[in-house]
Amino acid sequence: MKKYNISTKVIHVGNEPDLINGSIIPAIYQTSTYVQNEPGKHKGYEYTRSHNPTRTRLENCLASTENAKHCIVTSSGMSSISLILETLTNGSKLLCGNDVYGGTYRLFNSVYNNKVKIKHVDTSNLKEFTKCYKKYKPDIVWLESLSNPTLQISDIKSISKLTKKDKKILVVDNTFMSPCFFTPISLGADIVVHSLTKYINGHSDIVGGAIMLNNKKIYDKLWYLQNSIGPTQSPFDSWLVLRGIKTLSIRMEQHQKNALEIAEFLERHSKILKVIYPGLNSHPQFELAKKQFCGFSGMIGVYINGGMKEIKLFLKSLKLFALAESLGGVESLIEHPAIMTHASIPIDDRQKIGITDNFVRLSVGIEYLPDLLNDLNEALSKI
Ligand SMILES: *Cc1c(COP(=O)(O)O)cnc(C)c1O
Repeated sequence: MKKYNISTKVIHVGNEPDLINGSIIPAIYQTSTYVQNEPGKHKGYEYTRSHNPTRTRLENCLASTENAKHCIVTSSGMSSISLILETLTNGSKLLCGNDVYGGTYRLFNSVYNNKVKIKHVDTSNLKEFTKCYKKYKPDIVWLESLSNPTLQISDIKSISKLTKKDKKILVVDNTFMSPCFFTPISLGADIVVHSLTKYINGHSDIVGGAIMLNNKKIYDKLWYLQNSIGPTQSPFDSWLVLRGIKTLSIRMEQHQKNALEIAEFLERHSKILKVIYPGLNSHPQFELAKKQFCGFSGMIGVYINGGMKEIKLFLKSLKLFALAESLGGVESLIEHPAIMTHASIPIDDRQKIGITDNFVRLSVGIEYLPDLLNDLNEALSKI
């Protein structure tokens, strides 16, 4: 299926009609166990923690979207990230971007900190990264294709050249870009991780995670760990993702179309100090963004001209943008990273990377654009 475009793959790969009855939509195999002909003789499925036919379909679909050979679907983005850390031996060194999802930061620095040595660096600054990489000599490098929440971009091709030369592992959390706009494995990344909760499912009705990779040895280890520890996704949730992902391409197109217009509108607005969006000329890595990605996604960072009082009034005045954590659903969301998604990062570290009290993050949905612009305009006029 490699020859097909992603818009075709998300509809067909893993969604092959049922061979027995022709059902065009895959069945939900809502089962925990499978009957065996004689002890140890089964049809490839023994127990749903280990494998489930609906989940297998989703794994095939997701592997194809990232041009990977293997995929493991887990119960959440965080459990996917945990499984990758579980593959590391005690005392391994991890070099991580300094702006990552708050939950990732917490997992690294307060759950795995006794097992793995963690160092943070600005991966979007290639010179600084290279210097740190050569001195620290990490076993694994972790970064986000578009960092959360300040939307910084790292030069994956150059970074993967360094890690490949030393046979070290490069992991890219591709949640913010989605495989429509970026496939990190094609630029040399070893492992891609996604929170399925966000763009891939796209309808804010499940939590899930996925790991995509080509390395069979690491895949076997990850599967062994998932089967042993148990963070598997339910058949029904896998089925919902199989359904949600079919519209990924057209959703992403609309997300980015709306987001670009909104980013330009906000950049011109007198109550706004600064807008961060990779599709804007003003983004510090705009040139890299154009070269590395095929789209700019739907996330926007905004610095509002005001204090906590004004920000709270603005958030309260919005009618369409819902105040909520998460992102990537069809509906527009807004959130306050310092208080919400990134509260687990110590305040000093937070402020250093730009997560200040006047910073909000928008996940632009696929509603009718003039409605979204009106909503923002009216709420901004209140402050
Ligand atoms: C949400 C998110 C995660 C965690 O995923 P869950 O599905 O919430 O467990 C990891 N990385 C990024 C970039 C995210 O946005």
